[in-house]
Amino acid sequence: MARIVVVGGGFAGMAAACRLSGDGHSVTLLEASLRLGGRAASFERRGDTLDYGQHILLRACGAAQGFLERIGASDAVSFQDSLAIPLLFDGERTVLRSWPLPGIAHLLPALLGYRPLSGRERFAAARAGFTLWAMRSSREESFADWLRRHRQTARIIRRFWDPIVVATLNAPSFAVSFRAARCVFHEAFFVPHGADMGLFTVPLGDVFQAARRYLEARDGTVEVNARVEEILASDGRARGVRLANGREIAADAIVAAVPPDALAELASGVPELARTVGDAHRLEWAPIVNVHLTFDRRVLGDAFAIGIDSPVQAIFDRADASSLAVGSAKGQTLVLSQSTAAEWIDQADEEIVGRLSGALRDLLPAVRDAKLVDSLVIRHRKATFVPAPGSEVLRPKSRTPIGGLYLAGDWTATSWPSTIESAVRSGIYAAAAVEVDAEKGADEASGR
Ligand SMILES: Cc1cc2nc3c(=O)[nH]c(=O)nc-3n(C[C@H](O)[C@H](O)[C@H](O)COP(=O)(O)OP(=O)(O)OC[C@H]3O[C@@H](n4cnc5c(N)ncnc54)[C@H](O)[C@@H]3O)c2cc1C
Repeated sequence: MARIVVVGGGFAGMAAACRLSGDGHSVTLLEASLRLGGRAASFERRGDTLDYGQHILLRACGAAQGFLERIGASDAVSFQDSLAIPLLFDGERTVLRSWPLPGIAHLLPALLGYRPLSGRERFAAARAGFTLWAMRSSREESFADWLRRHRQTARIIRRFWDPIVVATLNAPSFAVSFRAARCVFHEAFFVPHGADMGLFTVPLGDVFQAARRYLEARDGTVEVNARVEEILASDGRARGVRLANGREIAADAIVAAVPPDALAELASGVPELARTVGDAHRLEWAPIVNVHLTFDRRVLGDAFAIGIDSPVQAIFDRADASSLAVGSAKGQTLVLSQSTAAEWIDQADEEIVGRLSGALRDLLPAVRDAKLVDSLVIRHRKATFVPAPGSEVLRPKSRTPIGGLYLAGDWTATSWPSTIESAVRSGIYAAAAVEVDAEKGADEASGR
């Protein structure tokens, strides 16, 4: 049984810690902030528990579902039986549905009936979709360049490709690599049920409490408000960590599951990591702004919807929050999730709320008669990294040049974009590397 320290209590750190703990290792998880969850944490506001960021899973996110199952929280997410995305466009509502057809054909009827595009444009988009589906290799060009070479006009990109790309990659097609976009379509949208949407039924903080219980039931230790200041290493091997309060914890292995900026600080005394840290700094990050709007009545009949050709991107019904916020069961709180939000991030709250509720009136006629009774703007400057062309080589693998030191985090080399799925995968990869190396070490020590 090895003594393992995991630094960072987001999905990556928790996935690593739970896997290692489940396999019988002695795990200590150290989280700098007062709550677990990292970018997926929850907080209290007026007696209500809110997530800092509105999150969804797609059914293709198998590692994330495996993690929820491990910690006994499978019920925390509820998936659609079949992909159905309500689209709000020009004052109308239409639904992009999967059909019970094999392979990529499951989306064909939806695309051929896609109202935001003209008939010619639908055929052009379907043709490019088939070409993309048939592509087995990836290229380091932008997705927009690839789309343009395949006769996709600016309007087709804006009304069809970008709503999917922005929602899944938090960047438009001109900013993301063909490789990243291809991953989203091949892993999720081109597979029947791959893109079924999963909405969390509980605040994400509850998921992290379940993970904490899982660890503690296996004699693991979870400490919040425990900022690690330094990774201690000598002779090319990690020996432990020093916390901000000066306490040192010795370890056989350390999993650093923190974003690049935090890693740079932790590893400032480890010259062997300079190159990894330098590469990681070259990853670009993009903001997301979440806007909670509470109305005095119901204005959206769906659990979520996507705005097409509107400043409003994704809209979610926070059903559980509505009655609390307006003191009656009739109200409704919507969370507007604005991805690739450079345009919004530095605006004043009133301006954001004014512009978005104005745009919402055009999408949802019921908003015109409703009274806005509460609002909240939450900004995330570095929400997800941008999977730009050339960025894949900047993502480090879990093993480092330092023995006993492993990396995890959604930004490490999982080949997935910056998501819960990538974070969980990275944690599992790091945990597997710890175990393989520990076994190798034990074999060498016993002369086997
Ligand atoms: C607004 C928003 C919406 C999103 N929507 C989705 C979505 O719908 N679906 C999806 O799959 N993904 C979504 N994501 C992305 C998802 O949240 C992240 O990919 C995932 O949470 C990253 O997990 P992580 O563990 O890699 O990193 P983090 O969550 O950043 O965790 C790192 C942890 O390390 C801690 N830490 C840092 N330094 C130290 C230190 N020195 N000592 C100890 N602890 C330290 C931090 O406090 C933090 O808790 C969204 C993100 C945001 C911000």
